[in-house]
Amino acid sequence: MQAAVPLPPSIGTLVIGGGIVGSCVAGFLADEGEEVLLVDDGRGGGSSSNAGSLHVQMQSRFMRLYPQNVPNMERQLPLYPKAVAFWRTFEDKLGVDFDLKITGGLMVAESQEQLDFLKLKAEREKRLGLDVEILDRAGLDAIAPYFSPAIVGAELCANEGKLNPLLCNTAIRRWIRARGVVLAENVAAETIERSGTGFDVRTSIGVVRAGRVVLAAAAGAKALAASIGEGFALPASAEPLHMNITEATEPLIGHLVQHADRMITLKQFGTGQIVIGGGWPARLADDSGHPEVELASLIANATLAQHIVPRLGNLRIIRTWAGINTSVDGMGVLGEVPTIPGLFTAIPGDAGYTLGPLSAHMVASAILGRDPGEDMSLFTPGRFI
Ligand SMILES: Cc1cc2nc3c(=O)[nH]c(=O)nc-3n(C[C@H](O)[C@H](O)[C@H](O)COP(=O)(O)OP(=O)(O)OC[C@H]3O[C@@H](n4cnc5c(N)ncnc54)[C@H](O)[C@@H]3O)c2cc1C
Repeated sequence: MQAAVPLPPSIGTLVIGGGIVGSCVAGFLADEGEEVLLVDDGRGGGSSSNAGSLHVQMQSRFMRLYPQNVPNMERQLPLYPKAVAFWRTFEDKLGVDFDLKITGGLMVAESQEQLDFLKLKAEREKRLGLDVEILDRAGLDAIAPYFSPAIVGAELCANEGKLNPLLCNTAIRRWIRARGVVLAENVAAETIERSGTGFDVRTSIGVVRAGRVVLAAAAGAKALAASIGEGFALPASAEPLHMNITEATEPLIGHLVQHADRMITLKQFGTGQIVIGGGWPARLADDSGHPEVELASLIANATLAQHIVPRLGNLRIIRTWAGINTSVDGMGVLGEVPTIPGLFTAIPGDAGYTLGPLSAHMVASAILGRDPGEDMSLFTPGRFI
């Protein structure tokens, strides 16, 4: 990243966190003529490391890891298909090819027990408005004839898809710079204090006075919320995760692929490369807190991919990396903090890249006093006061 620009002493809106959500909030506000400063500490979060899956159906991984969050996941579920549709609108708005394909997503099962789990899940998802169906092996072979004999069936969700985050992130940076957002990269926000009707935000290179503040710092928002005091306890936690990508090959996997019971996501970019993720753990370095790759995750992730789609065994993995995901309570934390006027949160729920632009648009609309298009009370940060 570039060295930090000098900070303006005061600004209308200060957005903290330059991932997909913070960048899009900044862009949508600047589109409407607002004066915006975006600070990012340069450590990178989920947006610079994610797999590009556009998730809609409930991910079995989150259901297993955080069963207490399932009611919230279901409450937020109707937002996912809208978020995927919003990506398409956003791609058109920016006039850039995101390699965005809404080709549907398959969650595969290896046993009758896993298929029964998917059947129950699909029934609940249908009631919440998702376009899902259960396929037996013959039905699966008709649309995706590349799975190993171990797979007995799958849940197909028509609303799911994929995009290439490298293309999206580059285009979004260009858009917000063109709209005049002041970008301060490699600048950490350290504390936030109320000051008159606004806020004094202490950063690693000085203090900025802001009329309003948007907390889009993912897991970093927890310490910032605590610094304000006033009982604002945001339970955002960092989850370091592993990713692999293969060399390019001929078109093989059209859908987004997941597993009913094991940690895997597979998809093929327009480049022909296959992205292999799914939530295998990485580790945080002791000194810097940066995410680092775990060899065991690389091997397990690649082995599982080959087990599901045997033809992947012929491909070389050309790059592997780790990134930080953020988890709260299974739902976005979006909107104004009721007891602290002028302080907004912009933290998406699980699969936050999918939800990113729509969540950002909802928060920007709330800031501008426009209709966010959704009931914001569902996502209120007030639940953590
Ligand atoms: C490996 C991996 C794969 C994933 N795959 C998918 C996927 O396929 N599909 C999907 O939908 N989601 C996926 N996710 C989740 C998704 O990437 C995140 O939910 C989403 O990117 C969060 O966006 P964000 O803007 O809220 O936060 P982030 O992208 O995490 O950005 C937050 C930014 O704030 C900065 N920051 C933090 N604290 C401070 C501070 N005090 N001062 C200044 N800056 C600060 C951070 O450095 C970071 O740049 C994945 C996540 C990971 C880690």
